[in-house]
Amino acid sequence: MLSIPSFWKKTPNLSDDNLMKGIAVSKGVAIGKAYLLDRSKFCIIKQTLEEHEVEKEIERFRDAIEKTKLQMLDIKKRAEKIADKYAVILDTYTLLLDDDILVNETIENIRTHHTNAEWTLNQTLQNFLNLFDNINDDYLKGKKDDLDLLVHAILRNLIGHSQETLSDIQEPVIIVTHSLSPSDTLTMPRNFIKGLATETGGKTSHVGIFAAALGIPAVTGIKNLTSQINSGDNIVVDGIDGEVISHPSDESTEYYLKKQENYRRYEERLLANIHQRAETLDGQHIHLLANIESSQEVKTLRNFGSEGVGLYRTEYLYMSANNLPGEKELYENFKAVVQEMDEKPIVIRTLDIGMDKQLAGIQTSDEDNPALGLRGIRLSLANPELFSSQLKGILRASFYGNIKVLYPMITSVTEIIQANKLLEEAKSALKKDQIPFDNNIEIGAMIETPAATLCIDHILEHVDFVSIGTNDLVQYTLAVDRINENVAHLYQPFHPSVIRSLKQIFVAANKAGKKVSICGEMGGDPMATMLLLGLGKLDDLSMEPHSIPKVKKIIRLIRLDEARQMADHVLNLNSVEEISRFIAKEMRTRFPDDFDRDLSFQEKVKPT
Ligand code: PEP
Ligand code: MG
Repeated sequence: MLSIPSFWKKTPNLSDDNLMKGIAVSKGVAIGKAYLLDRSKFCIIKQTLEEHEVEKEIERFRDAIEKTKLQMLDIKKRAEKIADKYAVILDTYTLLLDDDILVNETIENIRTHHTNAEWTLNQTLQNFLNLFDNINDDYLKGKKDDLDLLVHAILRNLIGHSQETLSDIQEPVIIVTHSLSPSDTLTMPRNFIKGLATETGGKTSHVGIFAAALGIPAVTGIKNLTSQINSGDNIVVDGIDGEVISHPSDESTEYYLKKQENYRRYEERLLANIHQRAETLDGQHIHLLANIESSQEVKTLRNFGSEGVGLYRTEYLYMSANNLPGEKELYENFKAVVQEMDEKPIVIRTLDIGMDKQLAGIQTSDEDNPALGLRGIRLSLANPELFSSQLKGILRASFYGNIKVLYPMITSVTEIIQANKLLEEAKSALKKDQIPFDNNIEIGAMIETPAATLCIDHILEHVDFVSIGTNDLVQYTLAVDRINENVAHLYQPFHPSVIRSLKQIFVAANKAGKKVSICGEMGGDPMATMLLLGLGKLDDLSMEPHSIPKVKKIIRLIRLDEARQMADHVLNLNSVEEISRFIAKEMRTRFPDDFDRDLSFQEKVKPT
């Protein structure tokens, strides 16, 4: 046991002003300087022009409009490759740029009032927005956002700001921002990012998944965060308790340094088990696999004892590229992954664009309900060429190892049949060109919608395995947006409906003799491990690699019959509160070292 100085035994007194509560999405403690990435605010100053400056100012404004038009055109071209529907949406912007009110009225006002272009454009925008407010038409009101975004694009060109990117960061920082786009996460110099704090997002948003994958402490869902922190401020991101502390006192800093160290040591101890098998006390082996977002991650997987890749989220490959990657590029990427992993299995999920994962250029797609929109397999089936090139890339790489294909967002057998048809066509094309591939490549369906759960028996007839995406399954079963911090408290993986859904999937898959994997965050939550093992025969758990050692530790201390008893009891409980309380009590009693400590990584104050 560590000897703990007395100050460490209690939380220091932090004034409420300094402490902001959020959602803990990636464990660990980061202490350092904030880097405020604030895209929303432009400082627009009113300037009065001399008579002779007016025409030059108008010229400058026209140049900015032309530049914006070219940028929109480029975005549109990229969007067309994905879906015509998106390209059509982007036409709105071009029309607005040709619009009399926005452009001509601004020019008129520069002439009349002798004010600078930025200020005048902003005034025009405000008038425009007031007009929208008085219109009683939801469609037009929805266009407000388009207009706002467009004006921001013009302002950026006027002010000479390109979109601020994180790639220039050259010293260790903690990123503080409203939201982080997937392309931000891909371009940031990861070695310098010590922590992340955002206003939006939840545990299963891509920010949470990304941070956890890289072991970067992160807290999301903090309201008004960016108005309370400036670049250069000293801050703490406590990814264990979900808190951000600005301007910590010396005493607090000391406290969090200890907490950071305690967590590091705890992780180190867990890593000692990476070479052991993930086997229950009665001999059931569960394969522990890794979820990855990029091929670069595979090199580090053996550090966590992963037995393969259970989910390769390929959308990030598309989001980081300037142009959509073609068959050859995809093939080379997948081949590198499979070769790095030797004969270990690699499950490649086909493109799952949509919701919080939008492609550059279609980020503003105005689907009212993107979670229910053209996402996952729907987008692939609507764009057969795009899908075929990905399938061919996967097939070609399958020649070099153990690759499986996984279809995301399945809601019906029809989608699987259509996808399999395209897969067969891709195989025929490769055969014709005498390109080798694994003809027996296994096919899996993500079970992440209530529709797929209810018809699981039908789906199982068309696939070799199923992989349960609990992140979406929880979202769609409970009708709770997984990235909306306002309903984060309702996002409950231990909800009875979720547990019943899981049970239904296990029963059907076990009956059909098909393999079951879990690749959502629940699979990597050690608190859920015993329950999941008790619900039915589970083959693989796939999770962000940092979670593997702890889940393995739990599996190695479990007996299957006890796990089944736990699951049977839980299936009879009728509320989240009851289930959570029961599981927490059971797990803390069985594994006091892991769950008691894990609450805060503070040493317990011994009663005197
Ligand atoms: C899931 O939904 O659980 C899942 C693994 O997929 P994603 O988080 O990428 O939607
Ligand atoms: Mg999903």
